[in-house]
Amino acid sequence: MCDLTVWNETLHPQFGQYFSVDRVLYRERTALQDLIIFENAAFGRVMALDGVIQTTERDEFIYHEMLTHVPLLAHGHVKHVLIIGGGDGGMLREVCRHQDVETVTMVEIDASVIDFCRQYLPRHSAGAYDDPRLNLIIDDGVNFVTQTQRTFDVIISDCTDPIGPGASLFTSEFYTGCRRCLNPGGVFVAQNGVCFLQQDEAQESYHRLSHTFADASFYQAAVPTYYGGPMVFAWATDNEALRHLQPDTIQARFHRAGLRCRYYNPAIHCAAFALPQYLLDALNA
Ligand code: SAM
Repeated sequence: MCDLTVWNETLHPQFGQYFSVDRVLYRERTALQDLIIFENAAFGRVMALDGVIQTTERDEFIYHEMLTHVPLLAHGHVKHVLIIGGGDGGMLREVCRHQDVETVTMVEIDASVIDFCRQYLPRHSAGAYDDPRLNLIIDDGVNFVTQTQRTFDVIISDCTDPIGPGASLFTSEFYTGCRRCLNPGGVFVAQNGVCFLQQDEAQESYHRLSHTFADASFYQAAVPTYYGGPMVFAWATDNEALRHLQPDTIQARFHRAGLRCRYYNPAIHCAAFALPQYLLDALNA
């Protein structure tokens, strides 16, 4: 395997993070993306696509818990979930922890990511790919949401940044397609980058989502390897009240779901919708 000793992230040309590489477990240019999985003493196994960190064993729980439990517990009676992307399997693992969920449809564009993450990041999916509720589809998420006859209560866009195949998941076409296959009272959420460094992406998503949904906003969590400040998650519904639920409502649903998390809790859920003033000013500019 190649003798890489340091891996530098290339998301931002002027500012970045690096990882010492103890061992490269796999590296391949798939048909769609440059995929690498390597071991790092601080974060365990690390996966990157096209030079951008996607997930690490050590801090993935923050991202996957927040992008799953916030929409599902805010909704309150989710039966059908759609995951777009999510090839590492972490989001699927968290969704499958909700026993009331009846079906999970996952639309991932690159089957290679699933194959290599099942082999080299097995704790991410933790067996969830064998859950009988899973309907796994290899396709571009845009194609699926614009053509499917299925409808969903929660749609989670667990995509890469808007580069390469991920770019299509930040378009009005994609958002309109998601709105089309979302049930009444449904919730759409998506990873939308670190707002301090990717503020233009948050502004773009906000304006496009605002044209498609009655209520669009964000919520946040700090994920160490999505460096540069809090990561924001796009939030879109037709019912603004869903992001203003009382802590005791979330607490009751959390308790009923029987979840034990490492980052998520009802207080964090409610607080996550408080956004920094610089972002609010940018969204209303
Ligand atoms: N946590 C990561 C982040 O926040 O950047 C996302 C991780 S997950 C590995 C991203 C997944 O999105 C990858 O498996 C990638 O193949 C998939 N993907 C990218 N573009 C896609 C598209 N247009 N349709 C479906 N899946 C896509």
